[in-house]
Amino acid sequence: MTTHFDVLVIGAGPAGYVCAIRCAQLGKKVAVIEQWLDDKGKSVLGGTCLNVGCIPSKALLDSSHKYKEVTEHYSDHGIGVEQPSINIAAMMARKEQIVAQLTGGVAGLLKHNGVDVIQGRGKLLANRRVQVVAADGSENTYDADNIVLAAGSLPIDIPVAPVDQDVIVDSTGALAFEEVPGKLGVIGAGVIGLELGSVWGRLGAEVVLLEAMDSFLPTMDKQIAKESQKLFKKQGLDIRLGARVTGTEIQDGKVHVTYAVGDDSHTEVFDRLIVSVGRRPQTEDLFAEDAGVTMDERGSIFVTEECATEAPGVWAVGDIVRGPMLAHKGSEEGVMVAEQIAGKHHPLNYDLIPSIIYTHPEIAGVGKTEQELEAEGIAYKVGTFPFAAIGRALAAGDSDGLVKIISDENTDQLLGAHCVGPSAADLVQQLLIAMEFGSSTEDIQMMVFGHPTLSEAVHEAALAVDGKAIHMANRKKR
Ligand code: FAD
Ligand code: AMP
Repeated sequence: MTTHFDVLVIGAGPAGYVCAIRCAQLGKKVAVIEQWLDDKGKSVLGGTCLNVGCIPSKALLDSSHKYKEVTEHYSDHGIGVEQPSINIAAMMARKEQIVAQLTGGVAGLLKHNGVDVIQGRGKLLANRRVQVVAADGSENTYDADNIVLAAGSLPIDIPVAPVDQDVIVDSTGALAFEEVPGKLGVIGAGVIGLELGSVWGRLGAEVVLLEAMDSFLPTMDKQIAKESQKLFKKQGLDIRLGARVTGTEIQDGKVHVTYAVGDDSHTEVFDRLIVSVGRRPQTEDLFAEDAGVTMDERGSIFVTEECATEAPGVWAVGDIVRGPMLAHKGSEEGVMVAEQIAGKHHPLNYDLIPSIIYTHPEIAGVGKTEQELEAEGIAYKVGTFPFAAIGRALAAGDSDGLVKIISDENTDQLLGAHCVGPSAADLVQQLLIAMEFGSSTEDIQMMVFGHPTLSEAVHEAALAVDGKAIHMANRKKR
C-alpha cells in the first residue's frame, strides 16, 4: 500500500522546506523527502544554503572581517590590541554552531507545522508517485496530488582541476580549511570565488583569482563592477581576467596551475586551489523517463513562469530550474507554488530579484543595469552618490563605494538600483521596495531620510538623478 499525501516535496533546501511549510500553513498534508545525512547518520535539513552555502560562508566572512578590523583598523579608532591571533578551529566551531542552530530551527518549524520528514533519496515516477530509498536500503513508495521537485544544485567540476577536497577543493572544502593557506588560487572570480577568496585573504593568504572572462562581474552594473574591482585591488586580491585555467598538477602537496591568457601560457604554484566555476542543477536519477518531466537547453528542469513542469501536478523550484541560483529566489518560488496548489494566484516578480555579493564592501543590485538599458534602447538618467560624502560612513571608517540609481528618462520611474559599499544589500533592498510599488525618483527625493544614516546615500543618489544632490557638486543642475 502506498501512503498518500496532498503534497510531497523532494529536497529540504530553502526552496523545498519553505514550500513545505507554506503548503502546511494552507492546510495541506505534506511530507518533505531529504537524502542528506551527517556523519552520525542524522538527517540534515536546510540544503546547500544552511549547510555549505549562504550561512557558513557568511559566518566566515564576518569572522574574517572582524579579524581584518582588529589588525588594520582598530588603531584608527585609538584602540590598541596586542598581537591579535587567529584560532581557525574556534572560527570553524562557531560556524558549525550557527549552522546547527539554523538547521535545528528548520526541523522545529517543519515539526511545528506538521510536515513529515522522510529520510531517503526520492525519485519521481509516473502518475505522481515517488519512490524513496532510505540510507539503510529500504524502499517505500508514496503518492501525492502535487509533487514539488526542489533538489538544488552541485558545484560544477572541470576536468582540468579535479577536486580532491584536500589540495584542490570546491566551495564546500574551502569552508572547512584547517589552516590559512600561504598562497591560495581561486578558479572563477564570480560570487562564490570572491567571497571565499576574501575570507582567506583577510586571514592572511596571498590570493590569486583566475577568471576566464575578460570582463569583471559582467552581470552587475558596469560602473559598480569597475569600482568593485578597484576596491578589491586595493585590498590585495590579485584578480587576473582573461585567464583560462588549462591544467593542474599536484607535486609535493602543492598545486601547479597552468592558465592561458590569449596565446600565452603561464604557471603559478599554490598551496591550495578553490574551484568555483559555477553550479549545476542536481537532476541525476531524480525522475523516471515516463514521469513526464522535461529538461530545458541549459540542463535545468523545464518549468513555466509559475514553476509548473510538463507533468500535471508536478512543480519544480529553486536551483533546479532556470534563473539565478539564489536562496531567496528559490524560497519565493516555493511560496508561489504552495499558493497555487491551494488554488491561489501568487505571481513572482522575476524582474526584481536582488543580486548580492557579501564581500566588504558588499556589492548589490536590482532591476536594470546601464548596459542592459543601452542594449534595449531605453532612454535613462543616472544619479550616483559616494559614501565618502556620507557622515555616518565616515564615522564608521567605512566610506568606500557609491549608490547608483537609474531611472526612466521620460517617466522618471525607478529602473535600477546598484551599490558597492557598506550595507549595500540593505540599501538596495530599500529601493527594491520602492520599485515594487512603481515609485518614481521624485518619490524618493521627497522622502525624509534619518540623519546620520547610510540610507542618506540612497536619498542623495535619487536627488543626483536630477542634478539636485545637496552634499556634492552636481554635474548637471536643475
Ligand atoms: P539546495 O539548497 O541545494 O537544497 C536541495 C536539497 O535537496 C539538498 O538538501 C539535497 O540533499 C536534496 N536532494 C537532492 N536530490 C534529492 C533526492 N533525489 N532526494 C532527496 N533529497 C534530495 N544564495 C543566496 O541567496 N545568498 C548567498 O549568500 C549565497 N551564498 C552561497 C555561498 C556558497 C558557498 C554556495 C555554494 C551557495 C550560495 N548561495 C547563496 C546559493 C544557495 O545556497 C542556493 O541558491 C540555494 O541553496 C538553493 O536552494 P534549493 O532549495 O534550490 O537547493
Ligand atoms: P559564478 O557562476 O558566479 O560562480 O562564476 C564562475 C566563474 O568561473 C565565471 O565567471 C566563469 O567565467 C569562470 N570560469 C569557468 N571556467 C573557468 C576556467 N577554466 N578558468 C577560469 N575561469 C573559469
